[in-house]
Amino acid sequence: KPADIECRIVVLGSGPGGYTAAFRAADLGLDTVLVERYSALGGVCLNVGCIPSKALLHAANIIDEAHHAGEDLGIEFGKPKITLDKLRSYKEKVVGKLTGGLAAMGKQREVRVVQGTGTFVSPNELEIVGADGKTQLLRFEQCIIAAGSQAVKLPNFPWDDKRVMDSTDALDLADVPKKLLVVGGGIIGLEMATVYGALGSQVTVVEFMDQLMPGADKDLVKPLADRLKKQGIEVHLKTKAAGVKADKAGITVSFEAAAEGEKPALESGTYDRVLVAVGRSPNGKKIGAEQAGVTVSDRGFIPVDRQMRTNQPHIFAIGDIVGNPMLAHKATHEGKLAAEVAAGEKKEWVARVIPSVAYTNPEIAWVGVTETEAKAKGLKVGVAKFPWAASGRAIGIGRTEGFTKLIFDEETHRVIGGAIVGVHAGDLLAEIGLAIEMGAEAEDIGRTIHAHPTLSESVGMSAEIYDGTITDLY
Ligand code: FAD
Repeated sequence: KPADIECRIVVLGSGPGGYTAAFRAADLGLDTVLVERYSALGGVCLNVGCIPSKALLHAANIIDEAHHAGEDLGIEFGKPKITLDKLRSYKEKVVGKLTGGLAAMGKQREVRVVQGTGTFVSPNELEIVGADGKTQLLRFEQCIIAAGSQAVKLPNFPWDDKRVMDSTDALDLADVPKKLLVVGGGIIGLEMATVYGALGSQVTVVEFMDQLMPGADKDLVKPLADRLKKQGIEVHLKTKAAGVKADKAGITVSFEAAAEGEKPALESGTYDRVLVAVGRSPNGKKIGAEQAGVTVSDRGFIPVDRQMRTNQPHIFAIGDIVGNPMLAHKATHEGKLAAEVAAGEKKEWVARVIPSVAYTNPEIAWVGVTETEAKAKGLKVGVAKFPWAASGRAIGIGRTEGFTKLIFDEETHRVIGGAIVGVHAGDLLAEIGLAIEMGAEAEDIGRTIHAHPTLSESVGMSAEIYDGTITDLY
């Protein structure tokens, strides 16, 4: 059968992994097609993930700052009056600017964008069904699968009821519910709890594990948990949502303790809306991978080697669909690598660390080895912690609850991990990631002159604490 479209390389999915791969492939001179089922490029991250959530968190932070100004600085702004339509259109404008920018960048590079849902029909062919039902056959020499992931929908929730939301629905900001239940105290759940809490919802968070944000060290989570409590956000750990009933009064959820036989801290509650944020599952089983002979794991991940190749050497896979951590910056790096390898460059994955950031208030950010991990693996490490209560800048902005922690290899004094909790922690983390990649020792970091008074000084101070050379605080 003759193909409707032929190309050297096709990228399936236009999220951060996919558009990066397509742009890089085109820059390297490959005739490139990018297939995306939605009209806007950018995938989850730009349309219903990283970007809109951060636009809304910006609003939440302004409300919080205004509160702080009234309470501590003697500058009263009064109770915020929220015009939801305007806030929503701000978020949409932010998203539009970025997705529009991508379309322009694709055009400039002569990447052919095909809108439709792609399914493999052979190792070198995709069938693409457009929104109008029209089918096109695309034949490729090489392919990069970047089809991403989607929110896990717990089966016992009535998903046809609009009051039950996943993260995409929550970002739609249909209203500010009086009472909101967030099921899942991970990054996404807590970011949305922060937004809705600031906008005025009475928020309850339930988490199955014994700490919020499992994956981060426990000490990092404490300043956030304390602040959530102060803001009136109720948190119940070791608790799982069991039964769900929807009626006119709301969504009534009953809870069970995570450990069998124990009583839950909260038995049940009725909410105006419920956000289920219990993780994301890869789309590996939804693209006809078997027709291309591409191996997919039981959970829907596509295994790849250090060059992002699947078991089929001409087919690569990148981003959420290849595994954790499901983060945009991991996807973009993998996308670039896959395109370069596809173009014949001899490269492989060499990144030592992938940073994680929760854009909550305060932010929590970590990179490399965590203290928990070091203990579990029996690594010989030294840990240095600089409390922000000793930072002139943190005191000045009234945010002393934070701290900066560095983890060093005891033998080499090289930094192998680091974490920050506090405002702007995500931005501050970059220095630690670079230090790890460059193999920096405590002395390198401590002797680097950091500007005063900045929160970034706390990284240098932590290194000095480890080296025993710290002279002054503030
Ligand atoms: P995706 O972004 O999932 O894109 C996949 C694309 O493929 C989609 O556009 C989809 O429509 C398309 N597609 C799928 N199947 C087909 C098909 N058969 N045919 C055609 N097209 C198809 N990460 C961060 O690093 N920082 C953050 O702050 C952050 N915040 C987040 C907040 C939320 C609420 C959510 C949900 C996620 C967040 N993430 C964040 C995670 C981040 O969005 C993902 O890691 C990232 O989008 C993964 O990129 P990807 O390229 O693998 O795939």
